Amino acid sequence: MGISRRSGLSFWKTSSETIREAARGRLSAIVRQNIDALVARFYENFLRDEEASAFLSHTVVHERLSHSLRKWLLDLIEADPHAGLDAFDARQIKIGEIHARLKIPNHLVMEGMGLLKTEISFKVADLGLEAQATAHTLILLDEIIDYAMRLMSTAYVTDTKLRVQTDEAFRLFSLGRDVNLERETQRATLMEWSQSVLFSLLGHGSASAPGSLAGSPFGLWVRHRAAVHFQGSPILASIEELIGAIDGEALNSLDSSQPASVAEFQRRIDEIKFLLNDLFQAAAGLENGRDPLTRALNRRFLPSVLGREITLAKKANTPLSVLMIDIDHFKGINDNHGHAVGDIVLRHIAELLLSTVRDSDFVFRYGGEEFLIVLVETDRKEASVIAERIRQQLAGQDVPVRDGEALSVTASIGVATHEGHPDYEYLIDAADKALYRAKNDGRNRVSVAAAA
Ligand code: GH3
Ligand code: MG
Ligand code: MG
Repeated sequence: MGISRRSGLSFWKTSSETIREAARGRLSAIVRQNIDALVARFYENFLRDEEASAFLSHTVVHERLSHSLRKWLLDLIEADPHAGLDAFDARQIKIGEIHARLKIPNHLVMEGMGLLKTEISFKVADLGLEAQATAHTLILLDEIIDYAMRLMSTAYVTDTKLRVQTDEAFRLFSLGRDVNLERETQRATLMEWSQSVLFSLLGHGSASAPGSLAGSPFGLWVRHRAAVHFQGSPILASIEELIGAIDGEALNSLDSSQPASVAEFQRRIDEIKFLLNDLFQAAAGLENGRDPLTRALNRRFLPSVLGREITLAKKANTPLSVLMIDIDHFKGINDNHGHAVGDIVLRHIAELLLSTVRDSDFVFRYGGEEFLIVLVETDRKEASVIAERIRQQLAGQDVPVRDGEALSVTASIGVATHEGHPDYEYLIDAADKALYRAKNDGRNRVSVAAAA
């Protein structure tokens, strides 16, 4: 592809060859003369930054990257759009892909580019050339670094998107297997391990102990497969903690002459069995994207839904509103009546919400006792009416919790309407602030975010 179809290279396209080559010569000399100092400055800066140093502190990375950065800078000053940039482009794209694979945030890369630009610009200024020559050199520097950065970012974003899609597809794929069979298989591998521990303790079976639980087939499954199936699950974290505790203490203090030590070991194994059950149960609920307790949509789909709805609203110029609903003094319900009653109340309220809104709206469980409703094609006024209807319905009827017993429950609601901001977090934040006001004003009320 020739220079004419590449954007952002107007200095290359429009300046005379004499001017261009003079600028190129100066830039090239500066970079070559200062290459060691530039690479050193780059690392000095990033090693001081906590986030960036996590990527750089390893000596191997340091050496490799120093080498790559040096090569990249020399490549940059050699680049000649009139001679062809295809190979240069391919190298920038590859670097962007590497950054994506290493999960180096794009903003750090941009910061690095900015730093190099400034350092080189200072050197240009130091030459004390006449103003126009200085300007030409700086324009050239700017153009070529920005050009390289654009290519890297495009590759970075494409690659990151693909990676996320693959992660998600794989997660769904792994969950698509027969969940019950998987649960039973893993329960069996756990039991097998604990039985061989007890057998060897009593001198039965093979004389040698079976080794740690972490190193057993069950431990391997937890670390490598369960970590994918149940990404971020607190239940999984508890299981890993218990495995650590068994390997750390329970196993070492096992003594056949001390029944308490055997009982303690058994108790921990049983606990893992219970947690394993919970883990799979929670996953069964996740599978179709709904929260298992309330059947409201799982929060992890909120970015997809709200992102899509905001795009639609902007394109079709239709209104869009959200309600943030938080149950009042819910902690008191748990404290006074128990967690099980709290759960019943949550389920009841979720049902009320799901039956109040239209089929085209989305009800999410946003937090423990918080719900977020996305009201499509609904303006501020209509959203306020719906919020007020929900509030009154809740306040107007007690929630039946046990035979004959019913509790009075209220909620506070924050309303916000989309006003063109492309970031869905902005809309959620506005609803959250309105909710906070409703709480502050005394609860059991609706507060509407003001129009900008
Ligand atoms: P406020 O009126 O300010 O909202 O007070 P609150 O008590 O509702 O708010 P707070 O955030 O202090 O307490 C929320 C409680 O919700 C604490 C937590 O234990 C409880 N909770 C969260 N998730 C669940 C759940 O799934 N089931 C039950 N029963 N309780 C839950
Ligand atoms: Mg809350
Ligand atoms: Mg609350």
